[in-house]
Parts: sequence; structure tokens; C-alpha cells
Amino acid sequence: MAKKSWDYLNLVCGNCGSPLTIQKGEWGTFYACSEYPKCYNRFTTNLYELLLDKVYDHVLKHGHAKNFKWNVRRSRLHAVVQTVKETDQQVTLSVLNVAFAKKRA
Ligand SMILES: [Zn+2]
Repeated sequence: MAKKSWDYLNLVCGNCGSPLTIQKGEWGTFYACSEYPKCYNRFTTNLYELLLDKVYDHVLKHGHAKNFKWNVRRSRLHAVVQTVKETDQQVTLSVLNVAFAKKRA
């Protein structure tokens, strides 16, 4: 069984598949697609811990993170999170912020 740790999740862009990296903006840190400005996909860092709990609960219940899907709606944020890959140490999730995805070039 996988051990829950801070780096248990690997986040990739649900729009283009590139890694999501932590960026600093005027309102604090956030995850942004490494293909910015070609891709506008982004995700708030303060949901990471909640996401980690959700994924780990799924793993405890089902024994794996396959089929994990989370539709997050928080005020203006609407993101869809899905498992794309899983190993014992890490789950790779695609994260698509629906609002920002529409802005892609
Ligand atoms: Zn992207």
C-alpha cells in the first residue's frame, strides 16, 4: 500500500499534458502549466492538501487510484482532476481548470 506523503501527487496539465509547476503571483502561489503562455491552465495550491486526502481516501477504499475523478467547484474555481498514472510511490493526476482552459490559444 502506498504511503501518503507530501509529494505523493504529481500534477500535470489536463489541457496539454505538460507539468504543472508552482509559480508566485501577486495573490500568492499557484500551479501553472509550464507551457504558459501557450496554455493558461492553472490551479490553486491551497487545494493540494485536500486533493491529497481525497486521492488517499480513494486508494484506501479501492486499493488503487485508478478511476479517481474529482470535480472541484469553489467560488470561481471549477477544476476537473483525474488519475492518469499510478505507481506505489506516486499518483499522476491531470488537472484542468475549466475556466482557464477556454483561453487557450
Ligand atoms: Zn497546459
